[in-house]
Amino acid sequence: MRLASIAVLGGGPGGLYAARLLKISNPDARVTVYEQGDPDKTFGFGVGLASRTQRNLRLADEDSLEAIVAESHPHEMSMKVGDSHVRLAHGELLAIGRATLLSVLQRFAKDAGVELKFGKRVTFEDVNADLIVAADGINSATRTEMAHEFGPHVTQGEGLYLWCGTDFALESAVFTPATTEHGTFVAHAYPYTDDGSTFLIETDEQTWRRAGFDVSTKETPFGESDQTSLDYLREAFADPLQGHRLIGNRTKWTQFRTVRCDSWHTRNIVLLGDAAHTAHYSIGSGTKLAMEDAIVLDRALAENDDLDSAFAAYEEARMPAVAHLQAIAERSMAWWDMFPERMNLPVEQLMIAYMTRAGKVSLERFAESAGEVVKAGAAAYAGCALDEVPPPANLNEWALGRPSAGRSGRIADTSLRDADGTTTLEITDRPWSADVSRLLADLPASSTFWLTGADDRESTLDRLDVAERIRIRSGAVVVVDVPEQFRSDGVAGAVSERVDLISFTS
Ligand SMILES: Cc1cc2nc3c(=O)[nH]c(=O)nc-3n(C[C@H](O)[C@H](O)[C@H](O)COP(=O)(O)OP(=O)(O)OC[C@H]3O[C@@H](n4cnc5c(N)ncnc54)[C@H](O)[C@@H]3O)c2cc1C
Repeated sequence: MRLASIAVLGGGPGGLYAARLLKISNPDARVTVYEQGDPDKTFGFGVGLASRTQRNLRLADEDSLEAIVAESHPHEMSMKVGDSHVRLAHGELLAIGRATLLSVLQRFAKDAGVELKFGKRVTFEDVNADLIVAADGINSATRTEMAHEFGPHVTQGEGLYLWCGTDFALESAVFTPATTEHGTFVAHAYPYTDDGSTFLIETDEQTWRRAGFDVSTKETPFGESDQTSLDYLREAFADPLQGHRLIGNRTKWTQFRTVRCDSWHTRNIVLLGDAAHTAHYSIGSGTKLAMEDAIVLDRALAENDDLDSAFAAYEEARMPAVAHLQAIAERSMAWWDMFPERMNLPVEQLMIAYMTRAGKVSLERFAESAGEVVKAGAAAYAGCALDEVPPPANLNEWALGRPSAGRSGRIADTSLRDADGTTTLEITDRPWSADVSRLLADLPASSTFWLTGADDRESTLDRLDVAERIRIRSGAVVVVDVPEQFRSDGVAGAVSERVDLISFTS
């Protein structure tokens, strides 16, 4: 398809990357990026780039990827709860300052011949182009103004987070909680440059209110940082901060918003990146998703003869992939919301729970890459010595055979289902839904809960997540029906203390 002019609204990673790819594919077209901010100022601190992102970006545009990697900071991952610390040697994690990433992408866009216009807010009505790419971020005015065309659905997370940073490089990424008189705060922190680290700090609403942050949030003027919270959290996280301060960048407590849309296009306008979809930051994928959108959109435009067909191809390729990651992200967000309630677990077991939280990584796969950590976590789960834990290939069956609550293994005897004191619950709602909250608030007195429901994977993972909530609230034994084909999800649930017993169904 021949395009004479392309306007890109928004100079974030999605918009800049799309502009470069589109200019390379359409050398005769005039490609312009309109960014309301200044070239060297942006929100946030460093962002994590997952290794898969690098493969996709390498295939699409090796030169810009090389430049991004050259400016990135590799790191390992760790978790620290109290004095217990566990570290994962994971050679593929990278982070980069958001401002640095944008400056690399601005340079590559310019080198390709893209025109960059800064300092002015622009709407789709202000530009006249064959194609308008709306990469105007999570608050996309394009999406809002044409909501009837795009059909957006926005849901808000329960917890609150604060995106801040510090002026030194942590030795590795660390997940670590800090409990104060008001409640628990959890930091997701990682180095992104030789003298800077991101600190993403989250908490629940009650703790946030008790600490008075509802007031400090209200009192922080637009565009400024909540210094009251930064000072408080500097004290709370004095240990990982090693005496350094927390720095804000228009930093205010926020609830994460997940954006989904029925459609990503109308007329000659197409949504890309956060404007079209968001995924909770705990899976570190928003930037990757935005840049991958750009890759697929560019290809779809090159391979189709008209905009409608290209947009249809773009949506067909991207919507399922994005929905898949959003499902993982939603489960991950809910896992983090509950983090303070499982801090009693030994840290290696907590690391297993973290890695398997969204069903993306199985216990065996994790054991192959982090054998010593899994061995320690599995030994804590089984209450046995380290040398009794078998190699990864035998781990699942071994874990299911470990005794629990006076039983010889973790596979439930079906007679328990009809026993006195067992309540069967059919789980049809998401673990974090209002209906499940009501169920938890009103649990009948029972010594055993048996959770049943649909036999697809998401429903199975949902039951395992609801099981954990019931276990924590009631202290009862919880059994979950797990279809045989999802055996390893059941095992991960048991080893992570989400569930006591499994009933495998065919
Ligand atoms: C707390 C937090 C942590 C995160 N951590 C990670 C991480 O570790 N890894 C990761 O991959 N992702 C992370 N993300 C997500 C990531 O920041 C976004 O997904 C990514 O920036 C999306 O890119 P984008 O280009 O679609 O939108 P944005 O980066 O938001 O860019 C949109 C741009 O459009 C501009 N704009 C908006 N409206 C207009 C207008 N009318 N006219 C002109 N310009 C306009 C804005 O100024 C902005 O520069 C995180 C997000 C949050 C909130």
